[in-house]
Amino acid sequence: MAEEKKSLNFLEQIVEDDIKAGKNGGRIHTRFPPEPNGYLHIGHAKSICLNFGLADNYGGQTNLRFDDTNPVTEDTEYVESIKADVRWLGFEWENELYASDYFDQIYDFAVTLIKKGLAYVDDQASDMIAAQKGSPTVPGEESPFRYRTIEENLDLFERMKAGEFADGEKVLRAKIAMDHPNMHMRDPLIYRIKHATHHRTGNKWCIYPMYDFAHGQCDSIEEITHSVCTLEFDVHRPLYDWFIEKLGIFPSKQYEFARLNLSHTVMSKRRLLQLVNEKIVSGWDDPRMPTISGLRRRGFTPASIRNFCEKIGIAKRDNLIDVGVLDFCVREDLNKSAARVMAVLDPLKVVITNYPEGQTELLSIENNPEDIESGKREVPFSRELYIEREDFMEVPAKKFFRLGPGLMVRLKGAYIIQCDDFVKDAAGNVTEIHCSYVPNSRSGEDTSGLNVKGVIHWVSIEHAITAEVRNYDRLLIIEDSSQVGDQFKKFLNPESLTVIPQVFVEPSLKDAEIGKSVQFMRKGYYCLDPDTTADKLIFNRTVSLKDTWAKEKNK
Ligand code: ATP
Ligand code: MG
Repeated sequence: MAEEKKSLNFLEQIVEDDIKAGKNGGRIHTRFPPEPNGYLHIGHAKSICLNFGLADNYGGQTNLRFDDTNPVTEDTEYVESIKADVRWLGFEWENELYASDYFDQIYDFAVTLIKKGLAYVDDQASDMIAAQKGSPTVPGEESPFRYRTIEENLDLFERMKAGEFADGEKVLRAKIAMDHPNMHMRDPLIYRIKHATHHRTGNKWCIYPMYDFAHGQCDSIEEITHSVCTLEFDVHRPLYDWFIEKLGIFPSKQYEFARLNLSHTVMSKRRLLQLVNEKIVSGWDDPRMPTISGLRRRGFTPASIRNFCEKIGIAKRDNLIDVGVLDFCVREDLNKSAARVMAVLDPLKVVITNYPEGQTELLSIENNPEDIESGKREVPFSRELYIEREDFMEVPAKKFFRLGPGLMVRLKGAYIIQCDDFVKDAAGNVTEIHCSYVPNSRSGEDTSGLNVKGVIHWVSIEHAITAEVRNYDRLLIIEDSSQVGDQFKKFLNPESLTVIPQVFVEPSLKDAEIGKSVQFMRKGYYCLDPDTTADKLIFNRTVSLKDTWAKEKNK
């Protein structure tokens, strides 16, 4: 049988063509190059799936390379979290590498450029250099230091390295052309002075290469064949190629794809860090954050994130993906794997008046109808139960197939009950309802002949355990945060977290485990939060069962 051929995305097409043409000996080697200045987010997951996926599909390798050329913002805490997140997503790198390991080589590359008359030391302050840049339509001005001799440049650069100058006193620039139509080619900065302690090299260096003079050089040193990055770097590509050509080093090639933009959130690490520092969220792993660690704590599975990245695909044009797509992917995955359990979030007491006082029976209820292997568990049933308040109506609406005076409903995995009566307090609130059960209607052995439409969940009051529930919602009330820039904090959703301090859950949940999701029947997917203590269970809502936002939109 012919195998169905899925259509290739443009990068797979490039890789296939290169392999067919025998480029790089048919070898593919990619890298994922995070800067360790924050935790990874779902946008990085897209890049991870792409880089590791490309290499996996074509028998290649992927390096994990920390792009640690800025000592001021980087930290080993971030390095560790990045490694944990990549592994959790299900990927294993070939080599763990650091741009800072190549500082000697990159320094030598700079010396090579100077010797070729292709780089010079500029004494001007950064605002002066910026003012001379011109604009896309106006050519820039040449620096008065542009024609220093090679000897003088070599001497000054060495003294920059030796620490003779203060931050900002001098920079090293590539000598390309001040009237180049591409602004990035107008004698870009390649080294700057920064007297700061680096998380790996300590105080060895006080000069650091700029992104453009580090990224491609690292790619080349590692003989990366396909260096994949996001679209905003396409204007840097001529510079990437220029350095490689002038240095005569391994010809890595850069390719750009559209970054992931997700609705109702912010994604840049700088803004996420602001949320953390200003304590708007509880930390990088707050379940409302779009970080990998936040999503993990929220109950997302690695498979759901990988499926999401697959589903949204790889494009060459920027677009905004609705966060509902991410919700869809986790629902789809958890539907297959999560055990169904009963939890009552807003309790109303039910007394089964014809059920013997003091009697308990253990009902065997299947864990997951979507997974026959998942088996059954025992759930205690007794005379006094809790049901959801919303499953009772004093004056039932038309087509309300739950409880109300005279109405019948099936209790999930248990009996059919009929509501006979209810009790109100002085304020007119219903405090409990009285029902009678149909003894021969037990699930699986029902001979009552009754046909009831509604099935509701319940817990036995005597056996239930209590828990706290944290329900999460969109972080921002606006769809596209790129429209508001640094003003995004004005658009925080005040209902992004709703805590229900006490809910009642079936006793099997005393064995709930962190990282193992359950479905609270008819309510949503939940998972145990690490804040849980010996005497207090805390559950996070990963996602509701239905997309309530889609309904809002269609109203
Ligand atoms: P941020 O702007 O969020 O801080 P960044 O691009 O500075 O992100 P890096 O650590 O430099 O973060 O990114 C590592 C890799 O992940 C880069 O190759 C980058 O292109 C990619 N990446 C970052 N954000 C996204 C995104 N939203 N979608 C796809 N890829 C992304
Ligand atoms: Mg970056």
